[in-house]
Amino acid sequence: KVGEELRNANIKLEEYANTDALTQVANRRKFDVCYAEEWRRMSRDKKPLSLIIADIDHFKKFNDTHGHDVGDDVLKLVAVCIKGVGGGGKAFRYGGEEFAIVFPGKTADEAVPYLEELREYIANRGFIKRSKSRPKEKPAEIVTKSRTYEKLYLTVSIGAAEKSERCRSAEEVISAADKALYRAKSRGRNCVCK
Ligand code: GH3
Ligand code: MG
Ligand code: MG
Repeated sequence: KVGEELRNANIKLEEYANTDALTQVANRRKFDVCYAEEWRRMSRDKKPLSLIIADIDHFKKFNDTHGHDVGDDVLKLVAVCIKGVGGGGKAFRYGGEEFAIVFPGKTADEAVPYLEELREYIANRGFIKRSKSRPKEKPAEIVTKSRTYEKLYLTVSIGAAEKSERCRSAEEVISAADKALYRAKSRGRNCVCK
């Protein structure tokens, strides 16, 4: 009984250590472990593997315009979108406003349609800005007047790379994805580059 409780506590602790506190997406620490694991697995099975880095566009400006708290709220919602990527992609918060997605068994070309879908979904979604003065308690009277909520729009740029003859190590693929992301930014953002 005590052993079982201890095991459960350990599982909880591990989950806690592997989850980003703000977005509830798997964190960088978890990424390092998972990516290395998938790399080994896909190499052993002679299957492709692609790695994606997605970065929110002009997020500094967004924070400056709407405030850091609104930035945090929107970052959480973007994280939910990214976590929902199709094609078996596994999402991680890689850094501040950067997310990594690992596609085990998929080439970058095979991952692109899922990334385009994600990019477009985020660009069109519109994130409702919650007003700061929103009361904590339920108001006594129900407000029936329709209120207009401000919708905020933002986009992400996405860089994709894959395990190949050119990129033989896990680190080389990360650096190639980073370069692809940089190209996406210089092409005007809100796009996917390989
Ligand atoms: P670019 O399109 O070139 O990526 O521009 P950018 O402004 O997004 O990039 P830059 O690297 O200059 O700035 C990143 C910004 O992301 C600055 C930082 O305040 C914001 N950011 C990073 N992490 C968080 C976070 O957890 N919460 C909030 N609100 N902002 C964050
Ligand atoms: Mg960034
Ligand atoms: Mg950015």
